[in-house]
Amino acid sequence: MLVVQKYGGTSVGTLERINEVAKRVAKTRRNGNDVVVVVSAMSGETNKLIEYAEYFTNNPQQREMDMLLSSGERVTSALLAIALASMGYPAVAMSGRQAGIETDLCHTKARIESIDRTKIEQKIKEGNIVVVAGFQGINRSGEVSTLGRGGSDLSAVAIAGALEADLCEIYTDVDGVYTTDPRIEPKAKKLDKISYDEMLELASLGAKVLQTRSVEMAKKLNVNLVTRSSFNDNEGTLITKEENIMEQPIVSGVALDKNQARVTLRGVSDKPGIAAEIFRKLANENINVDMIIQNVGYDGTTNLGFTVPQNEVEMTKQAMAQIKASELVEYDSEIVKVSIVGVGMKSHSGVACKAFETLAKEGINIEMISTSEIKVSMVVAQKYGELAVRALHSAYDLDA
Ligand code: ADP
Ligand code: ASP
Ligand code: MG
Repeated sequence: MLVVQKYGGTSVGTLERINEVAKRVAKTRRNGNDVVVVVSAMSGETNKLIEYAEYFTNNPQQREMDMLLSSGERVTSALLAIALASMGYPAVAMSGRQAGIETDLCHTKARIESIDRTKIEQKIKEGNIVVVAGFQGINRSGEVSTLGRGGSDLSAVAIAGALEADLCEIYTDVDGVYTTDPRIEPKAKKLDKISYDEMLELASLGAKVLQTRSVEMAKKLNVNLVTRSSFNDNEGTLITKEENIMEQPIVSGVALDKNQARVTLRGVSDKPGIAAEIFRKLANENINVDMIIQNVGYDGTTNLGFTVPQNEVEMTKQAMAQIKASELVEYDSEIVKVSIVGVGMKSHSGVACKAFETLAKEGINIEMISTSEIKVSMVVAQKYGELAVRALHSAYDLDA
């Protein structure tokens, strides 16, 4: 078999941990598999590098951020290759460029456009375990790019897809995908299986156990994806096609996104083209807008609200300053988004209503709502986020 294994920050957080990972990789190799390993930076390392840059400015050049942040993963890849070789297993570390990962031109959250598989294959053929630095690639202009926070998951899935690997294992610090973040609700249950679509929603709504784009890519390329712990041998969670899952609960999971900020524009003139102008500007800056809400106009003006990731508020402010949509723009980072997700919602009514009742019972005010076929999201004050998660988790019997 050809196995791709990805190890996240805590899994390679210390030299001892890297040694443990090397033992696990070596065992997979001894069992007769070809192995490609994708590693994250040691835990805390990426944040530390960001803080270093912020010492100088809160708006560093994105190109230089990619140069800076990609270094964390390179350190771990080389250390793991050294550890493996010292155990008698030939191994080579490769940067994103060396591994043939080509991306678009967008710095700090680039998309993978193609992978030249011959580069990794050559090293495997020579008998090596290949250790790829995750989270990075090279763009058409030959510049280093990174894939957005949590992007090593995407590196692993994309490599597994390109190499047509038999299995892609994402090793992390929890046993798999739970009904909600087990750090918020200790009664959360591990799921044996979850559909690509539900995982995609959970990930995009804040469950950082898998990066959103990695799930998107896994679905597209039909990658056999498993998340599991690098700290034990427990069975993990299989992310698979909906038809492979027999029982579909109405709600499969609850997610909390703490990285959201709300932008409110008051007195926006109520005429054609205004929304188009605002969101074109934000799109051009690659800002991820979510939960757009506009009221019925009154007296020729209206109010418009939307959410953006907290770390894109600065960019949003700069973009908004260039258009004259509203004199009064407010930014609120003291909010969170709580969501319930489940494919069973498609065929059941009253699911959203139960969520609203549950939060009302806790005295939590819902400030924004958005829904799709398989999710209901609510914006609430930050201080109520975890309480809301626990209340919803119990209301849909997920801790039963
Ligand atoms: P890594 O560094 O290995 O990539 P992350 O910190 O990115 O790990 O993701 C793992 C974390 O995701 C867990 O420690 C857990 O707190 C969090 N998490 C959030 N939602 C969930 C969920 N539904 N199931 C499991 N873990 C979750
Ligand atoms: N090191 C990067 C981050 O912290 C990428 C990753 O860990 O997946 O976001
Ligand atoms: Mg992660």
